[in-house]
Amino acid sequence: MTSPQQHVFGPVPSRRLGRSLGVDLVPFKTCSYDCIYCQLGRTTNKTTERQEWVQLDEVLAELRDKLSTRPDYITLSGSGEPTLFSRTGELIDAIKGMTEVPVAVLTNGSLLWQPEVRRELRAADLVVPSLDAGDEMRYRHINRPCESISFEKMLEGLILFRSEFSGAYWLEVFLLAGYTAIEAEVGKLAECVKRIRPDRVQLNTVTRPPADAFAEAVAPEAMARLAALFTPPAEVIADYRGVHGQSDFAAGREEILNMLRRRPCSVEDVAHGLGLHINEVIKHVEELNAQGLVEPSLSGGILYYRAVE
Ligand code: SF4
Repeated sequence: MTSPQQHVFGPVPSRRLGRSLGVDLVPFKTCSYDCIYCQLGRTTNKTTERQEWVQLDEVLAELRDKLSTRPDYITLSGSGEPTLFSRTGELIDAIKGMTEVPVAVLTNGSLLWQPEVRRELRAADLVVPSLDAGDEMRYRHINRPCESISFEKMLEGLILFRSEFSGAYWLEVFLLAGYTAIEAEVGKLAECVKRIRPDRVQLNTVTRPPADAFAEAVAPEAMARLAALFTPPAEVIADYRGVHGQSDFAAGREEILNMLRRRPCSVEDVAHGLGLHINEVIKHVEELNAQGLVEPSLSGGILYYRAVE
């Protein structure tokens, strides 16, 4: 069993990346955004300060131990914004010296206007930034960024990185009912995409309990219709359940279900109780929820899960 302070977790099943070995480079909810749809809850440390939030040596030692799990990707993501880790470039170089497993970075993209951040990500194989709004007002409503990051500054970073990065560049667009899931807003997003020139655009929506209850999912038919407004059409990220059905992930799920049969728990309670990384617990809980085996309930602003008998 692993410790709750672990920096490397999984492999976890990923809709896009197969079996993904996650690397967490910042303390829980250290992020430059506080997105209304965040599956990890509200941001507790909203910052643009880049520093060595975790020990690079410790991360590398954990990674070395986990390479025997033969992941499809090593993914810098986790419980906040990975580019806030000031030694991301050194980390990627060290991983490249250790294995041929490709490195992906899932980022909110908010710091790509900084030349050193762009330089540090250049050695990655795949970079997936987010773009959730087509103007300043909706950007502030949805992503709730640090004051100092304007919409134009963020967008400029996404555009500049494309011109300097030769790896795969996929843009994730998270659509929300009542905010951006209408033609006029998607039209603005599509204009931004023309300027960014990513290799792919992937549309996503709420599939997990969000930070704020007013972040609402977009129905599948509407997602398909809105995807067609991009040129070329965007791809709606496929259902993940097939991946979650893989037997290597069944054991952890059973353990979580047993815990939730005893008492209702938040994902953090489960992570601490079972010594799992919070992102791993989220993956399992969303699968159990989809199967109708657990149900969420909100109490005192915290989302708890209980087993359905
Ligand atoms: S969704 Fe990502 S970028 Fe947004 S608050 Fe959560 S961790 Fe930060």
